[in-house]
Amino acid sequence: VKQPFREPAVDFAALKIDALLVSGRENVRYLAGFTGSNGVVLIARGEPLFFTDPRYTIQSSREVSTKIRVVPRGSLIAAVAAEAGRRRLKRIGFERAHLSYEQFTFLEEHLPSSARLVPVGTLIEQQRMVKSAEELDRIRRSVITNSKAFATVTRKIRPGIREAEIAAELEYQMRRLGAEKPAFETIVASGTRTALPHAHPTAKKLQIDELVLIDMGASQDGYASDMTRVLHLGPAPARVRRMYRAVLDAQLAAIDAVRDGIPAERVDRAARRALAGHKLDRAFTHSTGHGLGLEIHEPPRLGKKDKTILKAGMAITIEPGAYIEDFGGIRIEDTVVVTPGGCEILTPTPKELITV
Ligand code: ZN
Ligand code: ZN
Repeated sequence: VKQPFREPAVDFAALKIDALLVSGRENVRYLAGFTGSNGVVLIARGEPLFFTDPRYTIQSSREVSTKIRVVPRGSLIAAVAAEAGRRRLKRIGFERAHLSYEQFTFLEEHLPSSARLVPVGTLIEQQRMVKSAEELDRIRRSVITNSKAFATVTRKIRPGIREAEIAAELEYQMRRLGAEKPAFETIVASGTRTALPHAHPTAKKLQIDELVLIDMGASQDGYASDMTRVLHLGPAPARVRRMYRAVLDAQLAAIDAVRDGIPAERVDRAARRALAGHKLDRAFTHSTGHGLGLEIHEPPRLGKKDKTILKAGMAITIEPGAYIEDFGGIRIEDTVVVTPGGCEILTPTPKELITV
């Protein structure tokens, strides 16, 4: 089913632009429904025009509901410049984060001398923060796939298995269950390597009396999920249990703080305050969470000084952690949706420390 073109929530008059060039890949997908790798949208005086290359002639005709221009040779940007000249566009907004310097200078050189390029910020990303019901359904399905893959694979975790084998197995299961790919490189870290928040899986074998941290996400129908869980091989010693309890307290406190209408920093503060109660606030070295959707990391960020007001319909992660060098790290992460009075936790995987 073709997605109707989504109108960009952009005030052209206030920005003093008569056209907007959207070139960020996920922004193009969001507005026009195009899932390929080479496409841009030029919205000029209310009319969207989609540009792509001949590899995507058939695909774009099935996915994109606006007028399509297939550019037979040369770059899409050259075709955009020609179109801007034909239509005598005067002030063309472009996404400063999604146009390369090369593309920018090409456009500048090939536009009529009367035309100006106007950099704009993350306008479409801001629009993407609050999800539609249909987008939330996709995120829900992605979360379920991710948790099912986790449940299947954790049953096989035992001493002797390698981090990289677990990662490969998780990604295989995700795909079997309906994901098109992992939303990011699956993190599997064991032993003291769990103190590295973004460890890459290695050939290291899991050993008895070790922590294992798994951070994984599926991408399904274009939408991401994100979850972190921690296991312990053998009965967990008191220090691990205490640290786990502290991080879980922080995660629950942060989830409790989430609601429509509050600044994102307040959620982050709730997590930090809980960790401070366990003298672990200095071991928490990243932000409490992030938005997710077509991308694994999207606005809003739930960090120390983030003033973004949370709104019902935002999909975010809540993922405090504590990391101690030469000992280990613990992070607990769920995907949740902001609601008027709080939030809905989408991740169904239990949160107790898993011992195997
Ligand atoms: Zn994660
Ligand atoms: Zn995350």
